[in-house]
Amino acid sequence: MANKNEVICIQCPVACRIEVLLSDSGAVEKVTGFQCKEGKEYAPQECQSPRRVLTTTVRTESSARPVLPVRSRGTVPKGELRDCVQMLATMKVKPPLKMGDVIVSNIMGTGADIICTDDLAT
Ligand code: SF4
Repeated sequence: MANKNEVICIQCPVACRIEVLLSDSGAVEKVTGFQCKEGKEYAPQECQSPRRVLTTTVRTESSARPVLPVRSRGTVPKGELRDCVQMLATMKVKPPLKMGDVIVSNIMGTGADIICTDDLAT
């Protein structure tokens, strides 16, 4: 028997209600209610293995700028966000850094790199 799941798509402001039918084994049987390819791909993933972009800050060794905003390049599994943020909270980065520089590769084995979202001058 299929399991019916409803997902509100967060890929754009239209916020389509997408219905995903999963088999007992978790396989996608049917997806309806999307208006574009992004929603068709997002909704099954949200049911099977939700992922999110991680955004946070890290401490720096700069007295002029003690914290620096960072984010994941790509997404990390939703269930691992807390561990990733806790790991980043233990870090202190050293200037100089440029926007887009990687400060952690493949954080916690999720496949996502953590990058600076601003410059950190010396
Ligand atoms: S399915 Fe497409 S149109 Fe609908 S909310 Fe998602 S991205 Fe927007």
